[in-house]
Amino acid sequence: MIDRRQGVLLVVSGPSGVGKGTVIRRLLAAHPEVRRSVSCTTRGARQGEQEGRDYHFVSPQRFEQMQQQGEFLEWAVVHKDLKYGTPRAPVQQVLGAGHDIVLEIDYQGAQAVREQLGEQAVLVFITPPSWQALLQRLEKRHTEAPEEIAKRLDSARREISNMAMYEYIIVNDQLDEAVIALEAVLLAERHMRKRTDWQQLQQQLLQQAEQGQGQ
Ligand code: ADP
Ligand code: 5GP
Repeated sequence: MIDRRQGVLLVVSGPSGVGKGTVIRRLLAAHPEVRRSVSCTTRGARQGEQEGRDYHFVSPQRFEQMQQQGEFLEWAVVHKDLKYGTPRAPVQQVLGAGHDIVLEIDYQGAQAVREQLGEQAVLVFITPPSWQALLQRLEKRHTEAPEEIAKRLDSARREISNMAMYEYIIVNDQLDEAVIALEAVLLAERHMRKRTDWQQLQQQLLQQAEQGQGQ
């Protein structure tokens, strides 16, 4: 077995309603060893969302306090007036322990993570097959009032305009295929030489060869 030296920090972005949450949930169901960062947000909880599982729902005052105390790895104003941020400590803790973690954040957050952590972060962008499909998904979800949907479509245009920053582009047309593609990215990144203790394995193999084991 080859040891893992460094966990994969998977940053997943894409327009609201494209299916990021759905794809990530499926990935995590197949890979329970992968952690998910729980963001803080100043928006209210939707029906069915749980504090601490989907988001930490905080007041604008509390969010500002956390900003001032440097508690965020990154934060951004996303849908016009709503703030979202990734708490720094859990990400550091998970990566430090050699585990993988997924961050579902917007393009501004992805850019900030890239600036701070460089190539350690793997940037994945999920797109809809068409603008029409995105509209249908947002409407079908029935979680936002029309003015909230309009804000998300505005953000979606900005999000799509920033696709060039990402290493991987996954079109979420058939859900199963999108999940397989994200899993493929995770597995490939895990096996990158820089994330493995290949030197230790190399040394062991050469020592075994020297000792003539197995002959
Ligand atoms: P996001 O997290 O990107 O805002 P969601 O995961 O909440 O998006 O998905 C938005 C809606 O689109 C949900 O109703 C979800 O079931 C649906 N959806 C996700 N992926 C697909 C797909 N490949 N085809 C059709 N509908 C999808
Ligand atoms: P909502 O859940 O309100 O529909 O949309 C959330 C949007 O904010 C998505 O685009 C998501 O990627 C982004 N987002 C969620 N959490 C964070 C975060 O911690 N930081 C940043 N920068 N964006 C986030």
